[in-house]
This record gives sequence, structure tokens and C-alpha cells, in this order.
Amino acid sequence: MAFPESAPKYNHYGDVTFIRGGVLDRFSIDLDVSKRLRKGHYWFWVFEPTPHMFEIQCDHCKKRHSPKNIECSATLGLMSSFKNPNVLYSRVEEYDNVSPISLSMVEYDGKINGCVVHLSPDNIYARSNK
Ligand SMILES: [Zn+2]
Repeated sequence: MAFPESAPKYNHYGDVTFIRGGVLDRFSIDLDVSKRLRKGHYWFWVFEPTPHMFEIQCDHCKKRHSPKNIECSATLGLMSSFKNPNVLYSRVEEYDNVSPISLSMVEYDGKINGCVVHLSPDNIYARSNK
């Protein structure tokens, strides 16, 4: 498989597609890279929350918690409801929550890493494909 040689620059990290339960990692789908992978496999750039973001249970902000984000559990003073580490919780309208067959992390610079996510054909990954 042809993985990208380097991760995007920190400031060019894409929109958050999913948040992984438990660890609250941010997953941003890269459809161009995904096209180079085997069928059913999708490429994501993954941003790990800072210890502070994790501690306050920030689960809706991109790279830094914003107290103005009223969707975020940290703003509401709640524990995140994204608890299951086997679920990628959708953050965008186009996708449902998914439970991948497997996740394979690919390390880059530690701030942004890659991940190959294998989804079963019946795991509807895009509402637009329904
Ligand atoms: Zn937040």
C-alpha cells in the first residue's frame, strides 16, 4: 500500500470526520489517499487530543477546546458520551457512526498520525452512498 510520505502540516489538518470513543482521537478522512488503498479501507489523519482536552472531556472541538462550542461536553461540564473505543462517532452530517473491522495506526510526527480503517461493506460509511 502506498501511504503518504509525510503528514499534513499541523495547521492544514482537515475537518474532523469522527471522534474515537474513549480516547477522543480526532479522525479526519482523506479520500484521495483512501482511493489508493484496498476496497473497504479508508485513510484518516489522526490528531490526538492534548492531555488538557482529554481531562476536560473536549469531544467536539478540532484541535483546541473552545468554550463557545456548545456541542462540546467540556463546555457543558459533562463526561463525553463517546465512550466505546470500537466506535468512531460521526462529527459531520455525511457520515454515520461506524464500528471498524480494524484500525491500523501509521506513525508520522506524533502530533498528526495516519490510520487505515477497514470497514465492512454493510457498515454504511457515507450517508450520501445510501
Ligand atoms: Zn471542546
